[in-house]
Amino acid sequence: MPKKQYKTEEIVLSKKSKLTEQAYLYTFKFKDPKKKLKFTPGQFVMLSFAGVGEAPISVASSSREASNTFELAVQNVGVLTEYLKNCPVGKVLGIRGPYGHGWPVDKIKGENLIVIAGGCGLAPFRALIKYLVEEKDYAKKIQLLYGAKDSQNMFFKKEYQDWAEVVETHFALDTKDQEVKGCVSLDEGLVTNLLEKDYVERDAYAHVCGPPIMAKFVIEKLLELGYDEEKIFVTLERRMECGFGVCQHCAIGPYYVCKDGPVFCYKKLKSIPGIIEVGT
Ligand SMILES: Cc1cc2nc3c(=O)[nH]c(=O)nc-3n(C[C@H](O)[C@H](O)[C@H](O)COP(=O)(O)OP(=O)(O)OC[C@H]3O[C@@H](n4cnc5c(N)ncnc54)[C@H](O)[C@@H]3O)c2cc1C
Repeated sequence: MPKKQYKTEEIVLSKKSKLTEQAYLYTFKFKDPKKKLKFTPGQFVMLSFAGVGEAPISVASSSREASNTFELAVQNVGVLTEYLKNCPVGKVLGIRGPYGHGWPVDKIKGENLIVIAGGCGLAPFRALIKYLVEEKDYAKKIQLLYGAKDSQNMFFKKEYQDWAEVVETHFALDTKDQEVKGCVSLDEGLVTNLLEKDYVERDAYAHVCGPPIMAKFVIEKLLELGYDEEKIFVTLERRMECGFGVCQHCAIGPYYVCKDGPVFCYKKLKSIPGIIEVGT
């Protein structure tokens, strides 16, 4: 494997905005003004700080044009993310990548799309939603079903109104503590319950990202509703070191999450034991 795969570029933290108590949207720019990030929605980078650690993070900004600036939405869960939370603007960190396969955006052109996300699982979808919002008529109808604990734990709250012209948004909260602007409906309960609603488009591509248990129940429901398994896509998260199929930490059956995913067609995963076992 060529060493250039590990080449890390210096990036400067230029802005941080609070998303929830435990998450921030970070804006970075490459230290080299000529450097640009070119990626497709769903791809990730390896974010690092020497002596602290490295972690895969999906790019959350627009992918329409390669840019010197990009955004990452990060939930504070461990060593690197805690370090990042305390970094001042101006701090220099590193990234390598982008890596992996994102969503097949060409397939959804002119088609219906339903995006189902749970908690911080909305983070990688921001790049996809931006892609679709920036070219209004790209897909036929776009529905977002998003589940979170309560309104305090919802990602990107300030953006739902900007998305509303293109994305029909429905929310499910464990606790409906306050109204949220920019949605068509706000229910109490699990995001899977929203799939029972009459408004749910049945002939659509479905993209799922969230905790494994949520993904399992969502996929079960989609199949029950008659969704074609070739049109169901799911984003998987696994611990990984390299990001391009060498360390083998993220191996699942014949695939690597880093290299063959993190976005997978459900049909590819359905026969791999322990990944998404519907009906068990
Ligand atoms: C493709 C991909 C995209 C991702 N995109 C995002 C994103 O956009 N935003 C985001 O916030 N997160 C994202 N993640 C998750 C993120 O990479 C992890 O949460 C990462 O572990 C954070 O690094 P850390 O150093 O802060 O946490 P760590 O210190 O690594 O700890 C994170 C958690 O993992 C546990 N842990 C530590 N070591 C192990 C081990 N060996 N085995 C099992 N568990 C362990 C810890 O106890 C802790 O609960 C993504 C992950 C993948 C694979």
